[in-house]
Amino acid sequence: MNNPTISFYTLGCRLNQSETAVLERSVETGGFRLVDFTEPADVVVINTCTVTAGGDTDTRRLVHKVNRLNPRARIALIGCQAQMDKGKLLELLNVRWVIGNGRKMELSSILQSTAETDAPQVITPTITRDSFTVPVIGVDHRHRRANLKIQDGCDFFCSFCVIPYARGRARSREFEDILREARGLAAAGHKEVVLTGINVGTYRYKDYTLMDVINALEQIEGLARVRISSIEPTTIPEPLIHKMAGRTKLCRHLHIPLQSGSDTILKTMKRKYSTEEFERFIRMADELVPQICIGTDMIVGFPGETEEAFERSAENLRGWPIDYAHVFSYSRRPMARSGKLPSPDNIPAEVIGRRSRILRDLSSRKRRMFYGSLLGTRQGVLFEEKKKGEWVGLTDNYARVAVKSQSIRINEFREVQLKTVRATMVEGVLA
Ligand code: SF4
Repeated sequence: MNNPTISFYTLGCRLNQSETAVLERSVETGGFRLVDFTEPADVVVINTCTVTAGGDTDTRRLVHKVNRLNPRARIALIGCQAQMDKGKLLELLNVRWVIGNGRKMELSSILQSTAETDAPQVITPTITRDSFTVPVIGVDHRHRRANLKIQDGCDFFCSFCVIPYARGRARSREFEDILREARGLAAAGHKEVVLTGINVGTYRYKDYTLMDVINALEQIEGLARVRISSIEPTTIPEPLIHKMAGRTKLCRHLHIPLQSGSDTILKTMKRKYSTEEFERFIRMADELVPQICIGTDMIVGFPGETEEAFERSAENLRGWPIDYAHVFSYSRRPMARSGKLPSPDNIPAEVIGRRSRILRDLSSRKRRMFYGSLLGTRQGVLFEEKKKGEWVGLTDNYARVAVKSQSIRINEFREVQLKTVRATMVEGVLA
């Protein structure tokens, strides 16, 4: 291939996004020319997701779209669905590479070494538990906040989740390698990094823990904020909460997946905490950290979720200091343990739809209540984009803020006085 062009599309989670950013930089170094997904390209890479059945459908839909708009492109499907479902993916038209999570970060060299062969390449070896490095700096030209991958895989085997199979067992990134990339991201102008992984609270490399990672990142000049993307309830060290309370560079924002407000369902899900433990923890965090934002994930329609169990979820979301929830409809995954639960436990789709609407409405209300509690305060905002004549950015405690001003620049921190709550953001004026 002479100066081949390549484009990427990312499905799924923040970790996939962070890996795509790294892959984009590494294929550029490898001699490819990066183009937008909407433009014709010699190679189109789709970083797949298999967390719900919807993720699988999205891959097929995207492959059809690529073939319609760009029929000469050769397609590489990489990541979680590639790891789990290679047979099905290979049947799709023009798919030339199926590369699982164990080797996907070697995409650039794989593409170069197999460019001349016509046979489809399927590379899905078993994923090892070894610690890892990420050789390039994943500067993200599309976003102001840069994802920084510190961990991968999970050993928890919750019954609804395919991740331990799709991404392998828990492993951590070498400590110095994290700092090297963080310094590079800061040098490239990123002021905020978001620590990503599958189960970041279990980070362990030699004697280093998540707290050591955060402490070291805070020393990096140019980095003003360190945010944790999502963290499992049982893995949050108490000193982390005290650190947040101390107004350091660590953002006052915790996203802690609850999944269900019913202890019976939590047990079937094989989650490692009770509702009482979860509540105790978030109340402690809420008391200790002024204006903290606590978000969560909830699954509705898990097999066996009675009306009463669902009510517990709604009631807890309503009454606890949770400021927003991402709501997911349960989707049976063949490899996950819950895929083997007896089918009479299935909940009809319309019931799942109603329950998820109730929780989504509640989440919007809770978010607006949180925004309301911030009115009159001054918050530091990192401005990310200009939309419809307004600058929009985020506070460290995850409030989306809109300001009308001519004097703001992109990627700039400004103090803002918060004035009015809107549907999905807070309006403010420069302080
Ligand atoms: S903690 Fe549970 S839900 Fe989260 S990745 Fe691990 S197995 Fe999946």
